[in-house]
Amino acid sequence: MPRVVRLRGGEREAVGDLEIELIIDLHIHTNLGSICSQLGPDELLERAQQMGIDAVCVTEHHSHRGANKMVEYAAASGYPVFRGVEIYTELGDMLVYGLKHETRYHLTTFEELTEMAQEDGAVIVPAHPCRGWGRKHKHAHVFPRELIGQVAAIETMNGANTLRSNEAAMAIAEECGLRGTGGSDAHAIWQVGKCVTVFEKEITSEEELVHELREGRFVAAYLDDLRKKEEESA
Ligand SMILES: [Zn+2]
Ligand SMILES: [Zn+2]
Repeated sequence: MPRVVRLRGGEREAVGDLEIELIIDLHIHTNLGSICSQLGPDELLERAQQMGIDAVCVTEHHSHRGANKMVEYAAASGYPVFRGVEIYTELGDMLVYGLKHETRYHLTTFEELTEMAQEDGAVIVPAHPCRGWGRKHKHAHVFPRELIGQVAAIETMNGANTLRSNEAAMAIAEECGLRGTGGSDAHAIWQVGKCVTVFEKEITSEEELVHELREGRFVAAYLDDLRKKEEESA
């Protein structure tokens, strides 16, 4: 029986009743594959279950190696772990789900990435598209319009971002008619599950995850907000 909560996106109007089938943190770095992360595989499993998240997706930088190890590590526990990857391109960091190609460090152009993604049936989601927009930079920040039509969604709720950066991403998503995903971008245990993606359907494999992302049957959320709404509607 799916849980039903009423979601409200920031200042915006309620988007109606949402049937929650699955809550996934779609953006996580572990120390199995990202040297910048302190998050151990045991900590990730424990914390994700403690937070009441249904599954996690490990998205290391540039390679699936860490995510493969994490899937192997979690197998005995029965807790679902999916794989993704975060690729640096000239148009920003891209989260990719369902990629089968091997990728290289800091050498992938967005064009190369879209070609690989098309061949593999993978979906691309720009990560933290507006990070740092609040700061004073000498170059004006502009969301690369060439991404529209090439990406399945944009990451509107990133746990490592400021609220302001996430709000800017939400505004862009709305303007471009794109859906938003949520992920913690966790590099340490306390960050796991801060932001999540809520799916309407059950997902049991990487293929199903890619399919649901393509179909757009999900919304981004702060886990805290979700919990509050769940309590209110209980
Ligand atoms: Zn990133
Ligand atoms: Zn990241």
